[in-house]
Amino acid sequence: MLFSENPFVHSLYEDESPVSSFEFFPPKDGAGITHLCQTVEALKPLRPSFVSVTYGAGGSTQKQTSRVASLLRNEYGLSVVPHLTCVGASKDSLCDHLDKTYEAGYRNIMALRGDPPKGQNIFTQHKNGLRYGSDLVALIKNRYPDLGIGIGAYPEKHPEASSSDKDIEHLKIKVDAGASFIITQLFFDNAVYFRFVERCRKKGITIPIIPGIMPVLSLEQILRFSKACGATIPIQLLNQLESVTGDTIATEEIGAIWAGEQIAELIKYGAPGYHLYTLNRAKSALIIAKILKNSQAAQALAI
Ligand SMILES: Cc1cc2nc3c(=O)[nH]c(=O)nc-3n(C[C@H](O)[C@H](O)[C@H](O)COP(=O)(O)OP(=O)(O)OC[C@H]3O[C@@H](n4cnc5c(N)ncnc54)[C@H](O)[C@@H]3O)c2cc1C
Repeated sequence: MLFSENPFVHSLYEDESPVSSFEFFPPKDGAGITHLCQTVEALKPLRPSFVSVTYGAGGSTQKQTSRVASLLRNEYGLSVVPHLTCVGASKDSLCDHLDKTYEAGYRNIMALRGDPPKGQNIFTQHKNGLRYGSDLVALIKNRYPDLGIGIGAYPEKHPEASSSDKDIEHLKIKVDAGASFIITQLFFDNAVYFRFVERCRKKGITIPIIPGIMPVLSLEQILRFSKACGATIPIQLLNQLESVTGDTIATEEIGAIWAGEQIAELIKYGAPGYHLYTLNRAKSALIIAKILKNSQAAQALAI
């Protein structure tokens, strides 16, 4: 299939139509790659505007990020946004990685600080490395002014931030360093997103804020994620999940229906699109697409 690369992801959001994008993580082995290819094949008819490929936590799968990004771009013709983090990296190695990414033709990148490697609680900056996501944005902007830079944001506050206000102040620093679009951490209550966007706008953050949505796969998973990232689980969702405890199929369906209805409402009330944390699985995304097809969002999303 032909390689197609969107020059700038953020320009997609200038259009009136909502933009859909999917996130994948780099599998660790060949079986995982086969599974990912099956997922991508199944999701191709949904025509995401771009896909993103995460960067391994703590140095685990960085090379795989590049391999998977290139597979999705060259074999499936997808517009790909690779992620990059500061974890365990010197400035020189970040520049080296950036040079390769740019030379390979990517024109958008997600710039993140990253989480501490497994077993560590606190983020420790590499002795010749960077401290914050904003430092990485500045480094990228300085080296490649024409790269579109995506950043993360936390509608329910980053767990390390002392307050939501401080977190938004830090987000503004990251935006002012040169970011061009924002993708949020997952959340399950749309009111949280709309309040967050309003507060960001009041602080002068004007770039697109794309809601990150993750369909629930299991009760344990959602409890784990919510503990790690502070996402509130609405009582209705919790009750629904608890009513089917042990039934994995019903749980996945409930998770996908919740996510689908969330997205339909987000788009109805003006979100510029949605970014789906697919967890490399097709089923939930396909259920979501069906829900969107039957909603007012269908026409806007052209599905
Ligand atoms: C859309 C999205 C994609 C992600 N993809 C990946 C991935 O591919 N790989 C991965 O490992 N992780 C990924 N993450 C997780 C992310 O790396 C973690 O959430 C990490 O803890 C924070 O990264 P950040 O870039 O948002 O950090 P930062 O923006 O640096 O913020 C981290 C903390 O520092 C504070 N802070 C920021 N600037 C300052 C300042 N100047 N002074 C004082 N405090 C400050 C912030 O308030 C926050 O509490 C992703 C997250 C999101 C939302």
